[in-house]
Amino acid sequence: MRKLAFSLLYHILFVLLVLVPAGILAPHAGLAEASVVVLPTNATIDDRSAMFGPHLGDDGLVGQLLIVEAADPGNADGCRPLARRMDSSKSWIMLVERGSCGFVEKVRNMQASGAAAVLVGDPWYDLPITMYATGDTSDVRIPSSFLARSDYHRLHDAALSEPGSNALKIKLVRNEYYELPFLDVLFITILSPMLMMGFIYILYRLRLRQHRLRDLAPADVVNGLPTKTFYHSKYHEDEPAECAICLDDFDDEDELRILPCKHQYHVKCIDRWLTTRKKFCPICKKNVCPSSETTPLLSPQLRSIV
Ligand SMILES: [Zn+2]
Ligand SMILES: [Zn+2]
Repeated sequence: MRKLAFSLLYHILFVLLVLVPAGILAPHAGLAEASVVVLPTNATIDDRSAMFGPHLGDDGLVGQLLIVEAADPGNADGCRPLARRMDSSKSWIMLVERGSCGFVEKVRNMQASGAAAVLVGDPWYDLPITMYATGDTSDVRIPSSFLARSDYHRLHDAALSEPGSNALKIKLVRNEYYELPFLDVLFITILSPMLMMGFIYILYRLRLRQHRLRDLAPADVVNGLPTKTFYHSKYHEDEPAECAICLDDFDDEDELRILPCKHQYHVKCIDRWLTTRKKFCPICKKNVCPSSETTPLLSPQLRSIV
């Protein structure tokens, strides 16, 4: 019954600490965390901000979309700077293709070519990924985002359908809705599992303590066992002359505790044994508690013979 209660409590706590916060926060943890707004039509395309470079400000970033392939044929993937640096009086958001070189390399090349921001489109897969880079990226001063294949093609087609090449105005915006607050992330990833582990540990300690207490003799039972004062003059040869716990010989006026099995020990030795180690006689293993007079180390068959 107690086992069932513990199990029930464990599951309730698991739901409260892990599943409920995860359920509440999951809708806010969508894949897209930023958007590209095609200003003439207000069409909105999801993208994903890179882990390197600055983040978009609250006001977003407005610029002219520049398909790099159109401005510099043969450089669709942006793995080298544009043949001719763009006029920096305008805000250029450059669209390059994924592949051939690292994300940060593309962004650095476009930054050197006068870009205000970079969009990297995936020509093959419809899977949004987060662009990240190893090493020092503090030289990257422009924001960049990743577009999965269908979003990349939508933006690409929108740019091509615009009269006059590279005239499409777009706005990069940060999508507040999708941002997971730091404290929520901290709660789900660290605090919640820690609380669960703490709870499980407390349960484990409690059960361990219960098991230990079951193996010990209560102090009142131990204090109720008879005692006697040892004198060599009254010593019988069939009685033990030493305490089996501390292995010291009994001396005159030593206080001895006599267990129900008639084995005798120093009072301080046997009392500590019974109340902190085991409730059984150290020699014959007989239980000193009156409720069960069993000998735990013997099988039922042997007990019936004894
Ligand atoms: Zn002793
Ligand atoms: Zn005994």
